Amino acid sequence: DRPLGEVDPQVAAAVADELHRQQSTLEMIASENFAPVAVLEAQGSVLTNKYAEGYPGRRYYGGCEHVDVVEQLAIDRVKELFGAEAANVQPHSGASANAAAMFALLSPGDTILGLDLAHGGHLTHGMRINFSGKLYNVVAYHVDEKTHRVDMEEVERLAKEHRPKLIIAGWSAYPRQLDFPEFRRIADEVGAFLMVDMAHFAGLVAAGLHPSPVPYADVVTTTTHKTLGGPRGGVILSKAEYAKKINSAVFPGQQGGPLEHVIAGKAVAFKVAASDDFKDRQKRTLEGSAILAERLTRKDVTDVGITVLTGGTDVHLVLVDLRDSELDGQQGEDRLHSIGITVNRNAVPFDPRPPMVTSGLRIGTPALATRGFGKADFEEVADIIAEALLPDFDETRKATLAARVTTLAEKHPLYPNL
Ligand code: PLP
Repeated sequence: DRPLGEVDPQVAAAVADELHRQQSTLEMIASENFAPVAVLEAQGSVLTNKYAEGYPGRRYYGGCEHVDVVEQLAIDRVKELFGAEAANVQPHSGASANAAAMFALLSPGDTILGLDLAHGGHLTHGMRINFSGKLYNVVAYHVDEKTHRVDMEEVERLAKEHRPKLIIAGWSAYPRQLDFPEFRRIADEVGAFLMVDMAHFAGLVAAGLHPSPVPYADVVTTTTHKTLGGPRGGVILSKAEYAKKINSAVFPGQQGGPLEHVIAGKAVAFKVAASDDFKDRQKRTLEGSAILAERLTRKDVTDVGITVLTGGTDVHLVLVDLRDSELDGQQGEDRLHSIGITVNRNAVPFDPRPPMVTSGLRIGTPALATRGFGKADFEEVADIIAEALLPDFDETRKATLAARVTTLAEKHPLYPNL
């Protein structure tokens, strides 16, 4: 019963340092968030000790009566939250959810059509050395070179030409909503399944602030730790007719024992996501990204070749386009890091710079909204970012901006009781 600090001071120190980093800096990685203490508590519980291969009421181990309660709560809540006919809450991650969903619907060698990684797609949507690229025959669609929006005419053309068994709609780096009815129409036209990977925007969907893919897709996958704000993990929602196949693709197809402590965290997160507070948080998330887009397209910024892709956003992130700027993605990321703002550099479509450098920054607002940021705070952080990216960034400006970051961080304490 000895505490972590006594058993393993090295790990305890790293955990404490990470807590301090999260508290003292501004987290703007679009795929990150802060799970509520209640989720951390569920995830750090004795449920981690339990083997529970199988599903609630149908386990291959004894003693599952309590984890059955937890998993059934998670299933019922996520179905209700998204209006889905069936749900599997066992995938360990978003990538596992996608692997299992594809395993359920496809055979190796089948053709899939997904958004190119370099244009904002995810590794699991067909990247060459990912399982998706190795197991399936991948055809990629793209964004339009002028509008930077998904080129639905190309999607239709490629679908008709290659007759994919599965079309994947979803993204990791894209600032706009997708046209789910149009994806459905194209899928129907060529007899393909439609899978929507809503990992990034699931929280917005839950809050009713983004169109839901659930009525249109055969299968919807998501992570639970991005805009949804829960523990790291994945979920597969589907039409009832695919539920059995998907369950057997997850277990025993892809995984062994489910992580019931994480599933408990998911159950808590789904309860939170149904609340008015959560909706308010998602509203502030969108308000924040709109403010970022507006301030990063003001004249002194665009005058030095910096702008945002598509000229704005209707989700929780903006993609800063540095293709015409002397500053590259790596330098932009480093500058913001040096003043206490964490973002990730990200290739933009048609990026002339190498993937380790890039010409883009992906900046998201979910974590700051969770911290309580409102309009004035987002205006301040957007101004700080704009000033950090402008030329002649010197030690004096760096110190001033870092102090403004600290003021914002202190105004919105994170995990004050941890
Ligand atoms: N799908 C999308 C669209 C994502 O952006 C991500 C993560 O970045 C994933 C799936 C994978 O999630 P995980 O990192 O939990 O495997």
